[in-house]
Amino acid sequence: MATEQVSRTATLKKYELLDQKDILLAEYIWIDADGETRSKTRTLDATKEWTTETLPVWNFDGSSTGQAPGENSDVYIRPVAIYADPLRRGKNILVLTECWNHDGTPNKFNYRHECAKLMSAHAEHEPWFGLEQEYTLLDLNDRPFGWPQNGYPAPQGPYYCGVGSGKVVQRDIVEAHLRACIYAGVTISGTNAEVMPAQWEYQIGPCEGIKMGDDLWVARYLLARVAEDFGAKVSLHPKPIPGDWNGAGLHSNFSTKEMRVEGGMKHIEAAIEKLSKRHQEHIAVYGEDNDKRLTGRHETGAIDQFSSGVANRGASIRIPRECAAKGYGYFEDRRPASNADPYRVTGILMESVFGAVSE
Ligand code: ADP
Ligand code: MN
Ligand code: MN
Ligand code: MN
Ligand code: MN
Repeated sequence: MATEQVSRTATLKKYELLDQKDILLAEYIWIDADGETRSKTRTLDATKEWTTETLPVWNFDGSSTGQAPGENSDVYIRPVAIYADPLRRGKNILVLTECWNHDGTPNKFNYRHECAKLMSAHAEHEPWFGLEQEYTLLDLNDRPFGWPQNGYPAPQGPYYCGVGSGKVVQRDIVEAHLRACIYAGVTISGTNAEVMPAQWEYQIGPCEGIKMGDDLWVARYLLARVAEDFGAKVSLHPKPIPGDWNGAGLHSNFSTKEMRVEGGMKHIEAAIEKLSKRHQEHIAVYGEDNDKRLTGRHETGAIDQFSSGVANRGASIRIPRECAAKGYGYFEDRRPASNADPYRVTGILMESVFGAVSE
């Protein structure tokens, strides 16, 4: 960190140590039209018990975020999940919200609402998800950290799970984010350096049902905040650097109660069969610019072709070797792009395997 930044951080500490009295700070988080998180703060009476039911519904100016027209700009944010706030700590909380229009309909960019309906309709199957979020760390000029100003780093090979200078950069951001997720109550299962230099991954899950999307969105919010502290930008672009450099995905691991026990493989195979019939429908909600990533090279399957296989990282769907050997477990949908909305991904997996929900 720059010296100036260090001294500002020290100065801020003076204020953070002031008594908060009977006030808690609630950071209301929502998802905007571009799939970025936004947030704002409100003070609440800390002597009261706050749940998603008792927390106030709030609103924001949707015309400033592309989520509502100027003449009718209020968008309501309804609390749906509460997390501990690792940035403010103490009694302060993060409040994940859903966006609703003034007329009582879900906002166009509220993908959680439909997803939650699918999850509750098929809850008896106890769906578990584990999403692998790949991302790239950029400097304030949008250049991946560690890349030469003009030209490219040495070819891929040493960077994946790399250890040591010249192989990985910005490990402090990754470590801070991991700790922040754990503190917040986000189910994070691990993290690793990726194939392209300056690219990293964290895994959220296994989470049941709607908690998958909730936890991943809060993890994305926290990464943006941590990176802000370190003067870095987070890119979720699925192909940040064209050419012989790996893209970034959101591999989505999925299992149901039936798949996780002996004899589960026939349920896994039946699900894959159903997915094979709706390839285009899935691709349509698996993120923007995914065509630049799903080329059939760089550990991806081709965008226009459904494929599946055991231990095959060039397929749409991979059954992990260990699961094939045991005869049960889970499968991995490798198609979603890093910028996909987890509510849309987990929602369509449920819809394709178990059917749509009627109103
Ligand atoms: P990869 O070998 O593809 O890099 P990772 O170890 O990065 O795999 O991620 C695997 C993910 O699968 C983790 O997020 C983990 O929580 C999740 N997972 C493990 N078991 C299950 C399961 N039974 N159902 C759904 N997800 C699972
Ligand atoms: Mn104002
Ligand atoms: Mn992984
Ligand atoms: Mn990966
Ligand atoms: Mn994977």
